[in-house]
Amino acid sequence: MPTIILRHVSKSFRRGKRAAPKPPADYTHATEEVPSPYALDDLSLTIRDGETLAVLGPSGCGKTTLLRVIAGLVKTEAGEILYDGVPLSQIPMPERGIGMVFQNYALYPHLRARENIGFYDILRGQPDRIPERIRTIVEVMGVDLRYLLSRKPPTLSGGEQQRVAVARCLARDPKLFLFDEPLSNLDAKLRSETRVQIKRLLKHYRITSVYVTHDQQEAVALADRIAIMRAGRIEQVGTFRTLYDTPKSAFVAQFFGTPPMNLFSGHVYGQRWEGRGFNVQPIRPGLRQGQAVYLGIRPEHVAIGTEGIPARVEYSEPIFPSRQQLLHLDLHGQPCVAVVPLSEAISAGQTVYLRFSGEHLYFFDQESGVRIG
Ligand code: ADP
Ligand code: MG
Repeated sequence: MPTIILRHVSKSFRRGKRAAPKPPADYTHATEEVPSPYALDDLSLTIRDGETLAVLGPSGCGKTTLLRVIAGLVKTEAGEILYDGVPLSQIPMPERGIGMVFQNYALYPHLRARENIGFYDILRGQPDRIPERIRTIVEVMGVDLRYLLSRKPPTLSGGEQQRVAVARCLARDPKLFLFDEPLSNLDAKLRSETRVQIKRLLKHYRITSVYVTHDQQEAVALADRIAIMRAGRIEQVGTFRTLYDTPKSAFVAQFFGTPPMNLFSGHVYGQRWEGRGFNVQPIRPGLRQGQAVYLGIRPEHVAIGTEGIPARVEYSEPIFPSRQQLLHLDLHGQPCVAVVPLSEAISAGQTVYLRFSGEHLYFFDQESGVRIG
């Protein structure tokens, strides 16, 4: 299983070279698409031997392009891609050992699932290997795969087709597994079932894998590490905990975590951060006087009490499995979300009082989005 290193890789689909525009300064809409002439923009990334790395980012940020570049299917304008230190261009396609699973299932519709899975053994003139191969794959992916084997793709549901597609990839003995949003066309129930099977298989085979998704739940469930991608670049790579506790930027803070972190615009004055309708002090020393700074706090850290910052309840959204509710609040015209126990009787129109305790606060430079405290 190879370690894969991408260094300063750029890929543009436009002619001529142009500087990429800066992402918009307004990070409160950070999850929207950011236009850039580069699909990949000076991107560096290491995928460790045997790990599952999830690449999580909004639609259009370059995830599919990244996978195609890793597979060597598209030419890049700059940078290098190394498989265990060897430039990808020096490795012939058949020796790269790449298995890809796409969003749409790409099975051969006229072949039964069994022949789809055994396709590469048939190509290699070793059809006698198929029964043993199928036995192992069924063992890992679960018995329900066995019931699909004699059916043709058009008679299978989306989730079933995707399971067969994954099994077919495995049958190539891949050294590297690339998944491009394989579950995004499935409904919620199938998505979670298929996710479990993919998880089982990734744990069993420990094949180096890159799993592209825009669904953070999927990334958290499947990956050893997560790379947050934005406008052709990797913003941050880390475990779920690292990204959640120590986001490097307002973009990561808002993109990762459900519901997203609350951000408020404000300025630094002396030892105080002053926002619209409320302020916080003391804050960390060393910030520039008058510096425009976002204050961030996660909804699960907003406490509600009898005194504090007044906010009006717009509506409450129950989350029954965890016995909680999301309060959508209006804080001096700024949206704010809080998670509180479902047992608290709170109704729309009511005023509640919020406490933002110091240890849960984040600060981001408003211009660059970089975290500063
Ligand atoms: P994602 O998979 O994250 O949604 P893509 O990698 O598909 O993003 O696309 C990244 C950017 O590159 C988008 O702006 C897209 O329009 C552009 N792009 C992707 N493929 C092509 C192509 N073959 N020709 C021109 N532009 C492309
Ligand atoms: Mg894509």
